[in-house]
Amino acid sequence: MTDQTPEAALPTSGKRPKLPPLREVIQRYGLIASKSLGQNFLFDSQLLDRIAAIPGGLEGKTVYEVGPGPGGLTRALLKAGANVVAVEMDPRCIAALAELETYYPGKLRVIEGDALKMDERALVGDGAHIVANLPYNVGTALLVRWLGGEQWQPWWASLTLMFQREVADRIIAKPDTSAFGRLAVLAQWRADATLALPVHRSAFVPPPKVMSAVIHITPRQAPEGARMTTVERITAAAFGQRRKMLRQSLKGLPGALDALEKCGIDPTRRAETLSIDEFIAVARMMDAAA
Ligand code: SAM
Repeated sequence: MTDQTPEAALPTSGKRPKLPPLREVIQRYGLIASKSLGQNFLFDSQLLDRIAAIPGGLEGKTVYEVGPGPGGLTRALLKAGANVVAVEMDPRCIAALAELETYYPGKLRVIEGDALKMDERALVGDGAHIVANLPYNVGTALLVRWLGGEQWQPWWASLTLMFQREVADRIIAKPDTSAFGRLAVLAQWRADATLALPVHRSAFVPPPKVMSAVIHITPRQAPEGARMTTVERITAAAFGQRRKMLRQSLKGLPGALDALEKCGIDPTRRAETLSIDEFIAVARMMDAAA
């Protein structure tokens, strides 16, 4: 792991004044990682540049960053030419981020607050890329929110999110695997989800107990339509009792067994054997019968 910040190598005589190394900023502002805020910071500038490159060329694009912390990833996003709007809950980080703002005038806006309570669409406008290295529970809650809703296309252009490796595997899981479940259906029904970058636990300070991975998600242009609430109800029932046959797990859901039959799906199958297309076909059939 290098301790080089993205700008540390720039000559002071360059266009932009030289940024102090990230570790120095952390020391100066006393940003000792807080466990309760799920803080595991990244310092490796090459790794941060690779994460910032995942959404594609960011020059002049708007990025909504959640949980910038001391600003390692924020630096990489700014260096890639993005206009960054960042929401951070830890008041200790705000001063450090304000200092970063002075190096990129007009390119960084920092908001102190809880990302779970933000109206981020109103904040950044349509077409923004979302990038975040968040605590696992916050990241999953936001992912479900960004992928949910009846309206599709979504307001965001792409999601680039760090997760625990086990959660990342569930997001990209394929049928007939033990990781396949509600998260996979949600992420892959109307979008393409890929594991963009595995990240070793030793890249973080302090290192967490588990490995991580960055997931990249882009909305699909013309996905099969079904009501999100119906898809949610079927997947909740089917995967709520994933070891049971569908005829058992879906029997409490009005119209579900009829829809299975009309779709020609054997009710003795189990939830994890159904493809995403089959889940959506059943949801459409239920919608049509409702
Ligand atoms: N992005 C930095 C990095 O990569 O080094 C920090 C990552 S750290 C894993 C997660 C950050 O999210 C912390 O700075 C933490 O304070 C912040 N955070 C945690 N919960 C949050 C929430 N609900 N809203 C906004 N920020 C949050």
